[in-house]
Amino acid sequence: MSDKRVLIFDTTLRDGEQAPGCSMNLEEKLVLARQLAKLGVDVIEAGFPIASDGDFEAVRLIAQEVRGPIICGLARSSTGDIDRAWEALRDGERTRIHTFIATSEIHMRDKLKMGPERVLEEVGRAVERARGYCEDVEFSAEDATRSDWDYLVRVYKRAIEAGATTLNVPDTVGYTMPQEFAELIRYLRQHVSSSDDVRFSVHCHDDLGLSVANSLAAIRSGARQVECTVNGIGERAGNTSMEEVAMALKTRCEYFDGCDTGIVTKEIYSSSRLLSQIIGITVPPNKAVVGDNAFAHEAGIHQHGVLSNRLTYEIMTPESVGRGATELVLGKHSGRHALAERLRELGFDPEKIDFEAIFKRFKELADAKKTVYNEDIEALVTDQLLRVGEHYKLDNISVVCGTFVTPTATVEMSVDGEARKTAKLGDGPVDAVYKAITEITQTKSRLLRYHVNAITSGMDAQGEVAVTLEEDGVRVIGQGADTDILVASARAYIHALNKLYQRRSTGTLTSLGGI
Ligand code: MN
Repeated sequence: MSDKRVLIFDTTLRDGEQAPGCSMNLEEKLVLARQLAKLGVDVIEAGFPIASDGDFEAVRLIAQEVRGPIICGLARSSTGDIDRAWEALRDGERTRIHTFIATSEIHMRDKLKMGPERVLEEVGRAVERARGYCEDVEFSAEDATRSDWDYLVRVYKRAIEAGATTLNVPDTVGYTMPQEFAELIRYLRQHVSSSDDVRFSVHCHDDLGLSVANSLAAIRSGARQVECTVNGIGERAGNTSMEEVAMALKTRCEYFDGCDTGIVTKEIYSSSRLLSQIIGITVPPNKAVVGDNAFAHEAGIHQHGVLSNRLTYEIMTPESVGRGATELVLGKHSGRHALAERLRELGFDPEKIDFEAIFKRFKELADAKKTVYNEDIEALVTDQLLRVGEHYKLDNISVVCGTFVTPTATVEMSVDGEARKTAKLGDGPVDAVYKAITEITQTKSRLLRYHVNAITSGMDAQGEVAVTLEEDGVRVIGQGADTDILVASARAYIHALNKLYQRRSTGTLTSLGGI
């Protein structure tokens, strides 16, 4: 591999998933992992196998099913963790064990209750054990940026002796500054190893808004792997945002001495949209690269400039990140063939989805809103891919509301195949719908968050609703899309109830921390 190649290590499914409100179920993780493979990431950190049965299953399934990227599982330094990680990864084709231990004084003293010499022993033992299973072993010194530099040199040297092939330098708490971090990476490469056999990696957090800047500074010092997440989700303020790193390297290629990633940039926007849809959290409009306004030129003088030459105010094109997609694509007269063709262009295999169901919903949608955009079609397919077992199913809904009446919702549903119906009054139409659904399903969850968003622009745009529900300490996110936001609201609520129903049989997740 060229020494200019920067590997993208995606941890959306591990660090990202640990963030509040970002948990995903098994099916969702698999759908996202497949998209990450399409996006061209080099490594997918699929989970922390010992953390929970759900994490274990996700790593196992993704290692079995997803081809292309290296599939990685996280493990603390203990034997149990490493054995469990390997158990999850063993059926994969290209796999990596990622093991870590903290090396800062505060973490060693107050968390691990181990002295520095003891931690060194752990590093050697953990990496050796992992290496016994797998040729590809990554070692992380947790809280590296608050660790003593000379001690870090000893730690990484020990990891190399034990067989580590990637040395990760995490800014676990988002504390470092770009220049300081660049110096640290340079120091480590000088004193640990400048050999091409060892790859330095960085893992930055955004507590001070510097995760991308720090990662880029590290690349200038020779780091050749960046750990990051789609939309920058992650613990606290989040991780380094994948799309920002990929586009910075692409846009400023010369400044980075020709360094580049293997990211298929045209897949960036769909990846961002898919993640938002799964976790029900949209990115802020001003978010770099993937925000709604990232390519909108509002000021007259700017518009004038862009019209005569796009390069006056545009350093990258929306098309390069897959955002040229908002043109009219299909209408009510489009047939099966046209839809199948468009699905293929969007990267979906019509054979692998329930095409007839998608076609039926596409026709309904085309009737309701005339113009159907790529984003609408993507939303339909994703909706189908993410459906869980439908214990609760919406049959019909009717809502009366306005200034003259008390909002009233009549809802017909099937519960485990049995038809039920009720009507309820509410403070508003959504409240009335939710009260009716709650009564029919006899559920006791609490609504923590309700969010509605338009998928595309225009008066006839589809509404996309995301809700967060909590029951007995378990939180789930439900989504629904429709041209009628009350129908979308009902779908989202029922989707979340189905996920809660499914969760009851699979247990809850516990977090063990991480780097
Ligand atoms: Mn992290």
